[in-house]
Amino acid sequence: MSMRHEKEKGVNVQVLLRCRPFSDEELRSNAPQVVTCNDYSREVAVSQSIAGKHIDRVFTFDKVFGPSARQKDLYEQAVTPIVNEVLEGFNCTIFAYGQTGTGKTYTMEGECKRAKSGPNGELPPEAGVIPRAVKQIFDTLEGQNAEYSVKVTFLELYNEEITDLLAPEEISKVSLEEKQKKQLPLMEDGKGGVLVRGLEEEIVTSASEIFTLLERGSAKRRTAETLLNKQSSRSHSLFSITIHIKEATPEGEELIKCGKLNLVDLAGSENISRSGAREGRAREAGEINKSLLTLGRVINALVEHLGHIPYRDSKLTRLLRDSLGGRTKTCIIATVSPAVHCLEETLSTLDYAHRAK
Ligand code: ADP
Ligand code: MG
Repeated sequence: MSMRHEKEKGVNVQVLLRCRPFSDEELRSNAPQVVTCNDYSREVAVSQSIAGKHIDRVFTFDKVFGPSARQKDLYEQAVTPIVNEVLEGFNCTIFAYGQTGTGKTYTMEGECKRAKSGPNGELPPEAGVIPRAVKQIFDTLEGQNAEYSVKVTFLELYNEEITDLLAPEEISKVSLEEKQKKQLPLMEDGKGGVLVRGLEEEIVTSASEIFTLLERGSAKRRTAETLLNKQSSRSHSLFSITIHIKEATPEGEELIKCGKLNLVDLAGSENISRSGAREGRAREAGEINKSLLTLGRVINALVEHLGHIPYRDSKLTRLLRDSLGGRTKTCIIATVSPAVHCLEETLSTLDYAHRAK
């Protein structure tokens, strides 16, 4: 959303588009390219002609990152200002939205299995938004003369059920099934927010710890998937970073700033578009991914200034209630593939993301 747009509507929702490069397999099969990005004009063009049928559409976003955009470029242009807000004591949320295989996890977590961090604590080039945000937070806090604490939680939402990705217990089929029976409950905290009872809060003291936590979370996710026949494309993951900063005012009084950053790797968008597209199956689609559908409605209601924001209709939007709307910044990173075989899903992702503007 442009500045002008932001002022007119008074809502801070930014929508970005990222198109990944061709995969090796797409390159080998000479997959035709149907998506073209222009980072400067912030436009994405989708075009295809077969058998006299033409598709030619252009979408404009707040920012566009084509296949050659690096992790660092996206972070610096889109995320740095948001993390600065969080450090000032506000709650912000960043979503990755798109078809499975288009780079949501790559964008949010990145690929840094071996690389961890360099000798001077610098990040590997493949590091995504989460490690970069944690590094920006510690770089800023360590340079300030204030007491602070940084806590993170990492959870998964599958079928409207919450699983803790950081809980330390042994992973076995028995313990998982046990857990599956007693999912972590979501409760009102009496202050307008919600809390997940029993969710592990990990205190982080330096940026380098983040890779261990991410790895622990993803390992648990993978094991749960195999043991319980889950489909990872249907689950959302929510990584939240809460910062408390205790500052002294010039008058010698104590000031506590509390900010929260939510980083959400959403379920594959094909989970709503495909089942939701067929008439009469909307109900089933809702059951498949209530949170993904409700998120779209909540963002629409915020952008359109509707009186009623349906936060309560899904767990994801209940969890994020204190970080969506009001004095918060929201950023949606929509991810697409450049290749022809994804065309239908690409168009539906572009439409969804464009509606959120
Ligand atoms: P999703 O989480 O949306 O299902 P992934 O993040 O797992 O998709 O990405 C699918 C594959 O594409 C991964 O192998 C990932 O490394 C690769 N990939 C995605 N985006 C990019 C990118 N911008 N640059 C390079 N590789 C990418
Ligand atoms: Mg993923």
